[in-house]
This record gives sequence, structure tokens and C-alpha cells, in this order.
Amino acid sequence: MFDNLSDKLDKALHVLKGHGQITEVNVAETLKEVRRALVDADVNYKIAKDFTSIVKEKALGQDVLKALKPGELMVKLVKDELTKLMGGDVAGINLSGDPSIILMSGLQGSGKTTFSGKLANFLKTKKTKKPLLVACDVYRPAAIDQLHVVGEQIGVEVYSDRDTKDPVKISQDGIAYAKENGFNVVIIDTAGRLAVDEVMMTEISTIHKAIQPQETLFVVDSMTGQDAVNTAKSFNDVLNFDGVILTKLDGDTRGGAAISIKSVVNKPIKFIGTGEKMEAIDVFYPERMADRILG
Ligand code: GDP
Repeated sequence: MFDNLSDKLDKALHVLKGHGQITEVNVAETLKEVRRALVDADVNYKIAKDFTSIVKEKALGQDVLKALKPGELMVKLVKDELTKLMGGDVAGINLSGDPSIILMSGLQGSGKTTFSGKLANFLKTKKTKKPLLVACDVYRPAAIDQLHVVGEQIGVEVYSDRDTKDPVKISQDGIAYAKENGFNVVIIDTAGRLAVDEVMMTEISTIHKAIQPQETLFVVDSMTGQDAVNTAKSFNDVLNFDGVILTKLDGDTRGGAAISIKSVVNKPIKFIGTGEKMEAIDVFYPERMADRILG
């Protein structure tokens, strides 16, 4: 995960990690390299620039050059700021409803259906919940089948209705079904499209208004870099979602989405997807991620 970025940051911080004398010049040089590494990893230029400015300011404020271990202090400042940029604290999901309704949003192929299954499985095993999956992608019959396959795999029931093309009705009927049958979490998988368009946005916002979920999650493919951030912005403008799910972090992803998304939409990353299997889900810990990035 983020091998390229980690390598570059490691090189950038090399001097500060005790391999040479630390001077004002090489602190500035290091931060420039850090900025370059972030931009190369698809972090938006302004975010990368602000990031290094803040680190620089803190370094000056703490008089890094006079510190006992200036290199270590600088690395710590970078790590703390990276953690903050990615969200600071761990963000949980709201399961206070009865049933708790979780709405999935995102583009086609982002990993919504897979993640819906992963989350149902996670809640079932880790939080002893009884989830119901609801199939609201009415455009692709294969999408409904896919959710049923996922449901069978993890032993979670799937509600679907192939007789209607109305996703609002299906989601409402699914919630009613959950209430009647003792499910305490309802995960609603919706239709995405290949790019942001008005039809998709109108549909998802109509479902959102009709069912008033406790959690609206935006699922995004981390491999799409800056596009991931732009798509997040479009969905957030319409849905004001509660959290981000970053998928495909097991691939050759550069890291820009993980680092930038929080500061662009001001919503936390809640979970990450790290593979195609149902177990490949992790709670997102900003500090652990910063540790991983900095190696
Ligand atoms: P949807 O159209 O948003 O419902 O996306 P899908 O759930 O169908 O996922 C699209 C593709 O991405 C499928 O082939 C999934 O197996 C794959 N996928 C989903 N999440 C992950 C992940 O975290 N890692 C990897 N490597 N593949 C994933």
C-alpha cells in the first residue's frame, strides 16, 4: 500500500532521520521534497502546500534546530500533521436506529455491492447485529444477482423485488420487511453510474430523503486518485454524507485519495476495503495509516 509514496517520503526524510547535520536549509529542502512526494501521490497541490507550510510553522514554533533530537521531532511533526489531515480520530458508524439504516452511494464499479456485503459481515460477526441487505440497483439485473451471491456467501438475507423499477419503493419495502422480521440494521445498495450525472444524483437524493438513513456512506475507488476526491465532492454536495469508504487499497494505489479526501469534504474515512474477499475490510485508523505511509 502506497509503496511509492512511502519510498519517496523515506528519501525526503533521510537527512532528518539522523543521516546528516540538520540545518535550516535542509529542513526547507526536506519539506519541499515532502511536498513533491505528496503531489506525485496525487494529493492536490494546494493541500500538499498547506501541509508543508503548517509543518514548517510548527517546526519554527518549536525551534526544531535547537531540539535535543531535531530529526525525530521533524518526523513526528510530519506524522502528526499527516494523521490530522486524514481525520485525526477514528470515526465510528451510527447504529442507533431501530433498525439502523445505512445507505450506500458511489459510482458504478467503486465497490458498493462488495462493501455492502463486507459491512454486513463485519456487523454480524463483530457487533452481533442482525443485518438485512437491500438491492436497489434496478438497472442491472446482474447487480441484484451479485448481492444475492454475496448474501449467500456471508449468510445474510437479501431483500429484492424484481417486479418494480422504483428504488424508493424497494428501499422502503426493505425497511418495512426488516422491521417485521427483527433485523436491526438495513444496508441499502444503490445503483451507480460510470460518471457523476444528474439522473443518478436525483435518484440517490430521492432515496435519501425518503428513508432518512442514520448513515449515508460514500464508496470510492482509491485507485482513481484526484477523481476520487472530485467525485466525493459532487456526492457530498447533494447528500451531505456521513463518511467515506475507500476501496481497493490493496492495489497499486498512490495514496492521494486517502490523504486528501477528508480535507476536501470534511467527512471522515470510516472503513477501507483491502481485497475482494468479504473479510477484506478494516476500520480506518488515521494514525496507523500515517505510520504505514511514513514506514
Ligand atoms: P459496485 O458497482 O460499486 O457495486 O462495485 P462492485 O462491488 O461490483 O465492485 C467492482 C469490482 O471491484 C469487483 O470486481 C470487486 O470484486 C472489486 N472490488 C471491490 N472492493 C475491492 C477491494 O477493496 N479490493 C479489490 N482488489 N477489489 C475490490
